[in-house]
Amino acid sequence: MLIILLLLIVLIFVLVRVIGHGGKSSDKDKKSADSAASGENRGIIFIDPGHGGMDSGSDDDNERYEKDDTLKLGLAVRDHLQALGFKVAMSRTEDEMVDRTERGEMANKAGAQFFVSIHRNKADGGGQGVEGFIPKEDDAESRLLGENIMHFLGKAGFEERTIRAGTLVSSAEDYEENAAAEMPSVLIEVGFLSSADDNYLFDNNLDKNAKAIADAINYTFMTLYEPEAAAEYEQMMAQTEAACEQIMKSTNDALSGASAAFDGTEEGTDSGGADPQA
Ligand SMILES: [Zn+2]
Repeated sequence: MLIILLLLIVLIFVLVRVIGHGGKSSDKDKKSADSAASGENRGIIFIDPGHGGMDSGSDDDNERYEKDDTLKLGLAVRDHLQALGFKVAMSRTEDEMVDRTERGEMANKAGAQFFVSIHRNKADGGGQGVEGFIPKEDDAESRLLGENIMHFLGKAGFEERTIRAGTLVSSAEDYEENAAAEMPSVLIEVGFLSSADDNYLFDNNLDKNAKAIADAINYTFMTLYEPEAAAEYEQMMAQTEAACEQIMKSTNDALSGASAAFDGTEEGTDSGGADPQA
């Protein structure tokens, strides 16, 4: 019985790996490799790691600074976007000071389709999760971009808060980056520096979070500019979810069958004097 259970566990691991990685990622990796090889340029995405240089942003009261987290995550997002066939422009790739308005203007000059500014939050009372700020006009494309990024980060483990138009204090004002950028834009706050849980999610899933942001940007790009690819992507996601549900169901059925058989065996050996505790 133990052997059957072990076999089942191994089978589950193999299936989960095939569904989670082999199935879709290898196709995607192949496509990405093809994209890179052919020099395909699906579009230009501007990634802005918030703060930098003398402007260290928020901190966790223990010499952990927002500017370092945003750069780390921003560089990882860039790598994932490039693997998806995008060109990526950045406001900074090292620890330097860049004016906030200039960041939006850099994106205009680069001819970017999207502007994504990466930040981390802080609150006295703790606070937890992802939230974002889009231009005060609350345009549909910026909102879609912001909500997709928040939702994908939610699937990566973060609590989802809200996407707001304007700034934290006023819906009639804009953050400088959003005011300057002429394309759909969002400032995304990837968890709170003041939350140990969020810092854990940030540090331990850095690549997963970067992939979530890149996938959300990719999905938004497909929705707006490549509708056929978006439909295919949605179909693939639905199939993956259905396959996972099927595996869970089969596993549960097999396990309850095995445990019923095990109960049966135990009853049969009752009079044999075997110690069930042994
Ligand atoms: Zn910030």
